[in-house]
Amino acid sequence: MPDPSSIEAKVAERALEYLLAPPSGDDAVINLSSPDELVAAFDGNAGLGFDAVASGETDEHVLAAVDQVLHSSVRTVHPRFMNQNFAGPDPVSVVGDWLGAALNTTAATFEAAPVFTLMESALLSKLARVAGYLPAAASPLPALPPGLFAPGGSSATLYALQLARHRRNPEVVRTGIGTERLVLFVSDAGHYAATKSAAMLGLGTDAVIKVASDFEGAIMPEALADAVVAAKGRGETPFAVIGTAGTTVTSAFDDLNAVADVCVEHDLWFHVDGCYGGSALFSPKHRHLLDGVERSDSFVWNLHKMMGMTQQCSALLVRDPSQLAPCFAGHADYLFQPDKLNADYDSGDRTFQCARRVDALKLWLSWKVRGDEGFAARVEHAYDMAAYTRSRITESGGAFAVVVPGSFTNVVFAWVPPDLRPLELANGTAAQLDQETMDRLHALPPTIKAQMQAEGTGMIGYQPIHGLNTFRMLFMNPAVSTDDVDAILAAIERYGAATLSH
Ligand SMILES: *Cc1c(COP(=O)(O)O)cnc(C)c1O
Repeated sequence: MPDPSSIEAKVAERALEYLLAPPSGDDAVINLSSPDELVAAFDGNAGLGFDAVASGETDEHVLAAVDQVLHSSVRTVHPRFMNQNFAGPDPVSVVGDWLGAALNTTAATFEAAPVFTLMESALLSKLARVAGYLPAAASPLPALPPGLFAPGGSSATLYALQLARHRRNPEVVRTGIGTERLVLFVSDAGHYAATKSAAMLGLGTDAVIKVASDFEGAIMPEALADAVVAAKGRGETPFAVIGTAGTTVTSAFDDLNAVADVCVEHDLWFHVDGCYGGSALFSPKHRHLLDGVERSDSFVWNLHKMMGMTQQCSALLVRDPSQLAPCFAGHADYLFQPDKLNADYDSGDRTFQCARRVDALKLWLSWKVRGDEGFAARVEHAYDMAAYTRSRITESGGAFAVVVPGSFTNVVFAWVPPDLRPLELANGTAAQLDQETMDRLHALPPTIKAQMQAEGTGMIGYQPIHGLNTFRMLFMNPAVSTDDVDAILAAIERYGAATLSH
């Protein structure tokens, strides 16, 4: 038995307690401190910084510091944390992550990670079958898996675009880019991972052509077709299109079949960014939102968002896994000796990374515990909470107005001061407001949010959309109840009224 009085056991005990008896209801989501206050809070214990000579601290000091970490960190497990596209980690995934860390290895070789190599293959095969990339009867353990796990959706996007360019010109891997002006397309509501990747690939951010989206945030397919033709007319070489399955702000889904048609017509690589909305595929009720994904060449799916895996857990699925090695291989002869046992199972030469975390383990564990039905329930709960929020806004007597009602898990809305009610803000009507009203509404979310943080009542994101700062309610955490939605809306009203009375 491990010594329960050891520092490791005590820290682990605190983590487990946080995880299994999580804060909820009126518990604080955050104990807000300024950077200076935070530093000062560690003064009496182990201290936050390191002196030029840093001696080991006593267990007592270290534990006091750990308690401070717990006190001052954001409780993302709290059902009133609705700030971002992750929340409420599945506790099974958290302990899976710990187990993976304890077994500390790299997923690069079968030699060092025999079980994890097979687990990754099993998961990629299952995900590919769920997405329709592979037939339902395909091998549950393919020797060459249909993709790999990547350290986050942005990295996976970079890998996908590298593959896309590789198909256009396999020589670039060796010779570097030439003078051909390669361009790609994504909607103007798509994720910034596209422009960052273009910068890193040496294409430049100007190589990303932003295509108009509708008021919900879904790409306009005719605008895409026109943009491709226009780029060709300018002498540029289109090579890829990114279709977004679930935009970050409004959870809008591009019509993937329409995007696929454009890609077929112009022989372009079709990448699907399903970082956020890919998990709709788990739900028989909602998987139709991704119809057409099976026609794509690559697909990125963040399991650390809606599915509650710890960050990160991102799957990159590819139609043709045989191209991963020519695109990424470094042929390190000290790792990938062709004459060792089971060398053909090594994934290390199919990715950019050298050491790679075993992100597959936590997903494998969670999926084995929850089953397909548990995964579907998580997505459907998120959808149901968003639908409840939409109905609460409709029945709010004008106190709230939707800006983008959304058709999935996100609702984008504004709080409306009493003297402006009723106010129509949906479908771009906000753009017709007079400047003074616009300025008033625009200034409210930051002030309301700051009060909410100061009291620790909740955390909710806001962002400008159609030129107006708006709140975004989104649902990731299965512990969120209608009471939590009501509490957040009531808090917004309370802080909004307080702002006006100042
Ligand atoms: C979150 C997100 C990404 C980026 O994923 P990371 O894992 O945060 O790098 C890409 N696209 C969309 C639509 C996202 O919501």
